[in-house]
Amino acid sequence: MKVYKFGGASIKDCKSIKRLANIIRNDNCDKIILIVSAMGKTTNSMEDLVLSYTKSFKNLRTKLELIKTFHTDILKGLFQKNHQSVLKIVDLVFNEIDKFLRLNKENDYNFIYDQLVSYGEILSSIIIYEFLNSIGLKSKWVDARSCIITDEYYRDANVDFEKTSKLIKRKIKGEGIYISQGFIGSNKKSFTTTLGREGSDYSAAIFAHALNAEMVTIWKDVRGVLNADPRYFNKTKLLKKISYEEAIELAFYGASVIHPKTLQPLKKKNIPLFVKSFLSPSKEGTLISKQDFTVRNIPSHIVKWNRVLLKISSKDFSFIVEKKISLIFSMLSKYKMKVELIQNSAISFSVVLNNKYGGLDELLDELKETFKVSVDKEVSLFTVRHFNQISLKHIKKLNQSILLEQRTHKTLQLVLSKKFKEENLFGFFER
Ligand code: ASP
Ligand code: MG
Repeated sequence: MKVYKFGGASIKDCKSIKRLANIIRNDNCDKIILIVSAMGKTTNSMEDLVLSYTKSFKNLRTKLELIKTFHTDILKGLFQKNHQSVLKIVDLVFNEIDKFLRLNKENDYNFIYDQLVSYGEILSSIIIYEFLNSIGLKSKWVDARSCIITDEYYRDANVDFEKTSKLIKRKIKGEGIYISQGFIGSNKKSFTTTLGREGSDYSAAIFAHALNAEMVTIWKDVRGVLNADPRYFNKTKLLKKISYEEAIELAFYGASVIHPKTLQPLKKKNIPLFVKSFLSPSKEGTLISKQDFTVRNIPSHIVKWNRVLLKISSKDFSFIVEKKISLIFSMLSKYKMKVELIQNSAISFSVVLNNKYGGLDELLDELKETFKVSVDKEVSLFTVRHFNQISLKHIKKLNQSILLEQRTHKTLQLVLSKKFKEENLFGFFER
């Protein structure tokens, strides 16, 4: 049994959905679990819809109409003359969205986000399911919300593995093709939750873990796991075989290929993960497994943009030690801050944050009651894993933008001021 995950880019239009169908058709595995993301950039459009709904109501209806048109266009392309019955099903989903917009009384942004944004995955899975069946690839549609059980931490929900595994095993029995949604689950109160942006990889791993899959493949629009993001770097190398640990580290530092939580469930059951290009399915891509193929000779470069650097010191110059550190962390957690780097000296404590959930201003107000705080916004966190002499030489060029540096024997991390721009990376690998 295999688990296949298709991300937004790999199901962004009719052509790519047909490509997905071919990949499934050419595979003669007895049992395939297909996990799909929302189509194309739907999640971003849904986020935009949530913003309108919670802030201004501006263009709310137009935005919803655009999302609908995007899906119905794909659907018409896929089913041509016979699209009426599928259109009806999709209409029902839009009625549900509409009902939520009219009746919702809840103010919590994160709650609203999950209830609405999750429809992206529902829509894509319905359309693909109908399409596969229409071309003779009989499949079963599984609602991930009735399988993946989480807590109530909306937008970054934590999975209850025990309950989830039981439910998945109950819903997915016997051979065949099953299709379910990535990214979404539900909590005890039966409200929809999401697992964090790009969370579909994680969903695929959860299904694979529960079902003891023989492998997982993540189909992407890149060759596999690369040693740098091709959007910013001009020469990239494919990492052909890496260990789970290495992949976890890379994901942690922000390599955007795999959702960071994906690897743990696979590692526990020793399930290999392939990352392959849906454009050339016969090419090998990357294999992530327990074997430790050293990548020490290939430095990997990862940049996280738009982060916040806080330098926190005590007002009376006393040491920042246990009690104060624990106070700082309780505040960081209260405002849902993602901490991405920590550095401390006797009297100051620096952290790099991802202000993903927008709580920065409130956090600063609270921190400033007790501490002296300096803030640098729009900084970047630049990580070089397995750095070598050549990396060090190139990094010298960034000297003027460096606000903070941290080094272990394997990893070099720099916090760079907002002066540092994408253009600075181009040509980075040239000697
Ligand atoms: N659709 C979600 C997102 O774009 C989840 C995923 O694609 O993994 O973040
Ligand atoms: Mg996506």
